[in-house]
Amino acid sequence: MNGMQLEIELLGTGDAFGSGGRLQTCFLLRTPAGPLLLDCGTSCLVALKARGEEPNEVGWALITHLHGDHFGGLPFLILDGQFRRRERPLIVAGPPGIGERVTAAMEILFPGSSQARRRFEVRFEELREGSAAAVGPALVRAFAVEHPSGAPAYALRLECAGRVLAYSGDTGWTESLVAAARGSDLFLCEAYTRDKRVPYHLDLRTLLDNRSRLDCRRLIVTHMGEDMLAGPDEDGYERASDGLVLRL
Ligand SMILES: [Zn+2]
Ligand SMILES: [Zn+2]
Repeated sequence: MNGMQLEIELLGTGDAFGSGGRLQTCFLLRTPAGPLLLDCGTSCLVALKARGEEPNEVGWALITHLHGDHFGGLPFLILDGQFRRRERPLIVAGPPGIGERVTAAMEILFPGSSQARRRFEVRFEELREGSAAAVGPALVRAFAVEHPSGAPAYALRLECAGRVLAYSGDTGWTESLVAAARGSDLFLCEAYTRDKRVPYHLDLRTLLDNRSRLDCRRLIVTHMGEDMLAGPDEDGYERASDGLVLRL
């Protein structure tokens, strides 16, 4: 990989409930500085190991919102690192409160694990809407979206290795998506249903109705539920699939 190419492996492209047998949301960016995760659903560690990736090399995890299918893999990633003598620091960046929520999840799932001695640092950074933050190799901007999850939920826009990647986890339609996608090489976006409106989620129809307003070179939909997966392809977008590798 040269410095001006960004490779993205879609490790998990499913919804929260295993529709289509897909893994939960998790994308791996191969950056010049090392691997970065974008969302970290509970199946993250399974996905990494199934694809021959070394979880201990992941330097950063960027999280859109604090639902289990987007951040629930972190306790497993951290604990696996502890048991396998990870040394590389892990930077976790996401909505305000992310440190407390990950710590609480660790204590529920593996009591005592959040306080265990580790050889590596886990550092939490809170992303604020509207301001750009440098997270390792990426410049990250957070856009508030509509998806209650006990903390602000974001769409994220990353500038990395000379490319722009926009990504929305879960949300009802909001104009924030237009802003987040503007000028991007790729916009990865949820399409949970085909036509049915589900509160705080996005349907393909609404997304395509706004397609001309989304200034992105490619639109790839992910986080698909059963009816989206069962239906035919249409023009105007591509579908994500587990294991798909993209080069921007
Ligand atoms: Zn989700
Ligand atoms: Zn969610």
